[in-house]
Parts: sequence; C-alpha cells; structure tokens
Amino acid sequence: SAAILDGKALAARIQAELTCEVQSLQERFGRPPGLSVLWVGDNPASAAYVRNKNKSGQAVGIDVAKSQHLKASLSETQLLALIDRLNADLTVDGILVQLPLPEHIDSGRVLNRIAPEKDVDGLHPVNLGRLVRGEPGLRSCTPAGVMRILSEAGVPLAGKTAVVIGRSILVGKPVALMLLEKDATVITAHSRTADLSAITQMADVLVVAAGRPELVTAAMVRPGAVVIDVGINRVTDYEGNSRLVGDVDFDSVREVAAAITPVPRGVGPMTVTMLLANTVQSYKQRLIE
Ligand code: NAD
Repeated sequence: SAAILDGKALAARIQAELTCEVQSLQERFGRPPGLSVLWVGDNPASAAYVRNKNKSGQAVGIDVAKSQHLKASLSETQLLALIDRLNADLTVDGILVQLPLPEHIDSGRVLNRIAPEKDVDGLHPVNLGRLVRGEPGLRSCTPAGVMRILSEAGVPLAGKTAVVIGRSILVGKPVALMLLEKDATVITAHSRTADLSAITQMADVLVVAAGRPELVTAAMVRPGAVVIDVGINRVTDYEGNSRLVGDVDFDSVREVAAAITPVPRGVGPMTVTMLLANTVQSYKQRLIE
C-alpha cells in the first residue's frame, strides 16, 4: 500500500530550519520578522486558524505583536486605514487578513489594499499575476505547501500528467499554475467536469481540493499515482462522533496509490508553515535585496 506523505513531520522540520534562520536574521539586522494577522469578528472556524498562525509564528521567533482581533462592527474604512498603517510600518513584513470577513466589508477591496510585498497569503492580484507570468513573488500558502510536499518526496513532475480537482483562487487555480511551472501536463477538473473518473484515472499526480468529503475513491485513481488531499471536512458519523476527513477516501485509495497525504497531518500543517516561510522571505527581500 501507499507511502504516507507526512505533512506534519515535514512542517516540523521546516519550522525548525526557520527558527535557526530567524535567529541569525535577528542577530544580523536587530529585529525579528514581523507578521500581523487581522481577524475581524468572531467566525468560529477562524478562531483555531488565527490562533495557530500566531502561535506557530511566535514559536519560530516571528514577532506577532501587531496581530489584532477586531470587533465585527469595524467599518471597511477603518480596516483599510489599519492596513495602510501596517503597509507603512517598517517592523511589519507580512499582513494577513483572515477570511471570511463580516458581510459589510468587501474582501476584494481589503485584500487589494495590502502592499503586494507584504501579502504573505499570496492572494493579491499582483502576486497572482506574477505566478501566472512565472515571475518570483509571494506564492499562496496551501498551493506552496502542496508543491513542497511533492518536491520533498522526490515526485517527478516534468512530462507527467497532473490532475487538479477544484478551481478556487485559494487552492485549485494556483496549484495548477505551479504544477505547470514544473512542466507537468495539467488538467483542471471542477464541479462542471463531465466524467470526473475518466479524467482522474489519467493522473500521475492527483491534487484534490473540492471540499467534498471522500469524493475520490480507489476506482478513480490510477494504480501508482501520487495523491495529495487538500480537503478538510468535518463529518459526523452515525454514532454522532465528529471527525476530520479529506476529499479522498483514504482507506481505499491508499491501497492503489504509490503515495498519499493523510488528513489530518497532511497538507494542513504545511499551509501555516508556508505562511511563516513567506514572512521570512518578505523580510529578507526588504532588508537584504
Ligand atoms: P472552494 O469551495 O472554493 O472550491 C472547491 C472547488 O472544487 C470548486 O472549484 C468546485 O468547482 C470544485 N468541486 C466541488 N465539488 C466538486 C465535484 N463534485 N467534482 C469536481 N469538482 C468539484 O474550496 P477551496 O477553498 O478551494 O477548498 C477546497 C478544500 O480544501 C476544502 O475542503 C477546504 O476546507 C480545504 N482547504 C484546506 C486548506 C489546508 O490548509 N489544507 C487550505 C484551504 C482549503
């Protein structure tokens, strides 16, 4: 059965490397990299993500003192003014606005206000444009995490067929572009794809970001494929117990795949790690280049 691609262990290793790097940067330049995570309102799903981003940042030595929890009644104007201040703040290298924002705030306008060189989530149109053009820039975190898992596992991509399920701005589209950058032959499948199974069976590398619990079953996977499961879905079983599952039916697919990421402990821990790596990259760009 398949090799398990342990994202949690890889994330821990990269975070240990980042800790050393941050310490030497701090000694050389007299300040740590700074990250400001802005959380507006009390969306319960955001709470754990925000806590994890700040906690992990702190653990590698990044200064998260400028992260803020703002009340849901904050106006868009006030949020934009705060972003302007953080854009101008020389001790802040990364700005991340946790989504979703409250209804009365236009998230597109807010994300566009972040200075592209501080956009550690890689979602600003300038950074997405750089990705499309194959230019260096800040890359969005979950797709970057997927690519790092593949490269660390030594999975060949050039000339291989990669199928991505999902076309969101957050995951599907950027991961497809990154696979293309590595010379894979890329197919993007989505909710309107006819005969999904026929498409996925072509995949040497299958990246699944559909947000549909256990959508991908063993019959849809070509024997020997590498399967990366981005999905995080909370499901409740018939006994009323809740647990996390991916978009891939792990137990059956692991019997046919050559390698597979689990959920949890797969792509998830890599996302926050890439956020920290982006913050350090942004810092270095500002102070060294
Ligand atoms: P999304 O809802 O924005 O996009 C889902 C995409 O999947 C859409 O493009 C849709 O066309 C496609 N899709 C939906 N149902 C499909 C089907 N039956 N067949 C084929 N395609 C289908 O979601 P997203 O933000 O891209 O996230 C996808 C999943 O990844 C979610 O489970 C999310 O929780 C998870 N996620 C995980 C991380 C992480 O750190 N691991 C980060 C972001 C998102």
